[in-house]
Amino acid sequence: MTNSNHSPFILLPVLQNVALDRLQRAVAAYAAGDYTVTVTCQDERGAWGYLKNGSSPEYGVVLTDQEQFCSCPDRMYRQLVCKHMVILALHILRTLPPEKAAA
Ligand SMILES: [Zn+2]
Repeated sequence: MTNSNHSPFILLPVLQNVALDRLQRAVAAYAAGDYTVTVTCQDERGAWGYLKNGSSPEYGVVLTDQEQFCSCPDRMYRQLVCKHMVILALHILRTLPPEKAAA
C-alpha cells in the first residue's frame, strides 16, 4: 500500500495555482533572502510556519492536505495563493532531507 501523504506532494497545489507574476516575485524575494522563514511544525500532514519581511507584519502560514492558510491581506481578503505560501513551500522543499525529497 502506497502512502501519498508525503509533504512534498501536499505543497504542489500552491506552486501549481499561484499566478506566475506572484511566483516570480516570491522566488526573487526568497532567493534574495528578504524573508525570515520560521518553520514551527512539519510532518506528513504538511507544514506550519511564520514569515517575516523586514519591518512588515509577521504572517502565519499553514499548508496541509486540509487547509491552505496565510494571515496576509492577499489571502484573507482576496483568497489568493499568496507569495508567503509559495515561499514557505519553496523553503520546505529546499530543506527536506534527501531521502524525503526522493520519496
Ligand atoms: Zn500571505
